[in-house]
Amino acid sequence: MSEVSVLIIEDNVQNMYLERYLVEHSGYKVIEARDGFDGIKKATKFLPDLILLDIQLPLMDGYEVARQLKENENTCNIPIVVVTSYAMPIDKKKVFSLGCNGYIEKPIDSKLFISQIQQFILKNNQDHD
Ligand code: MN
Repeated sequence: MSEVSVLIIEDNVQNMYLERYLVEHSGYKVIEARDGFDGIKKATKFLPDLILLDIQLPLMDGYEVARQLKENENTCNIPIVVVTSYAMPIDKKKVFSLGCNGYIEKPIDSKLFISQIQQFILKNNQDHD
């Protein structure tokens, strides 16, 4: 079985650090991107198994990142999970209408976060069996 990889698109250093730690703790490989353009570039290059997507990003916001990834036939099947904060509520309708697969709320609850990303990865693998 090939290594499972997770692309984290997040500009906040502390959030990136925590998400990376939790994803690696779950046994998955991490690819980091700190802005929207870099996120799209790395998604296209590495075709990760899951994308964790912040909404407030420099250069291009997360909604635009999701729109472009879902429009591209090479990346449209990669599940996208939006990671969002209480302080800056997301438009959940918009998230799902763009084809995103779910969302996780900040502040991140470590145990819940791990179980959520595992579920998204398992579900995606089942869908492709
Ligand atoms: Mn951000």
